[in-house]
Amino acid sequence: MVYYLATLNDSDGPLLIALAVAALVVILATSSTKKRPTMTADRAHTCRGCGTVHPGYANFCRRCGHRLD
Ligand SMILES: [Zn+2]
Repeated sequence: MVYYLATLNDSDGPLLIALAVAALVVILATSSTKKRPTMTADRAHTCRGCGTVHPGYANFCRRCGHRLD
């Protein structure tokens, strides 16, 4: 009986965790790719000092402190 439960746990646990992790990764990937193009393509600022791309609401480069306009 104990052996049966142990084997059931052993084969089911990792699979469920893998499925949960895979679902989470898919959700995170789709939400970030949905958000990014609209934010950066809208009014993106590219720093002239270092080339870092910032969203439209940024006024100063968060990397080198150069003013964005
Ligand atoms: Zn910069």
